[in-house]
Amino acid sequence: LHNWPAPAGTGQQLPAPRDRCIHLMNFDELNLAPAILRAVQEQGYTAPTPIQAQAIPVVLGGHDLLAGAQTGTGKTAGFTLPMLQLLSTRPAAKAGAIRALVLTPTRELAAQVEEAIRAYGQYLELTSTVIFGGVGMNPQINRIARGVDILVATPGRLLDLEGQNHIDLSHVEILVLDEADRMLDMGFIHDVKKVLALLPK
Ligand code: AMP
Repeated sequence: LHNWPAPAGTGQQLPAPRDRCIHLMNFDELNLAPAILRAVQEQGYTAPTPIQAQAIPVVLGGHDLLAGAQTGTGKTAGFTLPMLQLLSTRPAAKAGAIRALVLTPTRELAAQVEEAIRAYGQYLELTSTVIFGGVGMNPQINRIARGVDILVATPGRLLDLEGQNHIDLSHVEILVLDEADRMLDMGFIHDVKKVLALLPK
């Protein structure tokens, strides 16, 4: 809990450290579907980490969230679990459409995040894939053409494929900017803005 900068910005802010009540929570208290809890249990997790205990209810409540936590604190599950919960309980507006988009600064992180989504979502009907630059486009294009619920992407490759009309972001319900600070440090601000412009208002 020591590293929780909660930077200023839009979206719901988590309480400042002095206002935080530390309650050792159980995963069962988070209102997640049994299929998600089963996957979490199989990962060997016994209790949510502080960022998970604080972030998951906010996301499930439908709020925007800006959260900061160090690597290794369970932040990936912190956004993935409620995202899977929301997607699995809401009907898709259009079959095969991309419903959630996760942007990451690097291909390594993109691959890791998608692996986590697969693990936590293994007992759900949702599908996911990952796209990044530096590798052939065709397998990525073919996978997206088959329909995918959750897309994890680095900004450059996402915009390339969107520019070639292989990606439709008009049905995206949930956007995650993972390691947003690093994305900005790496000069992705213009790409991120272009992606935002492609999402439904
Ligand atoms: P992250 O900070 O998202 O990179 O996660 C760091 C590591 O913590 C990963 O190896 C996760 O598998 C693990 N992890 C995530 N949530 C929990 C949890 N609630 N209990 C134990 N380990 C966890």
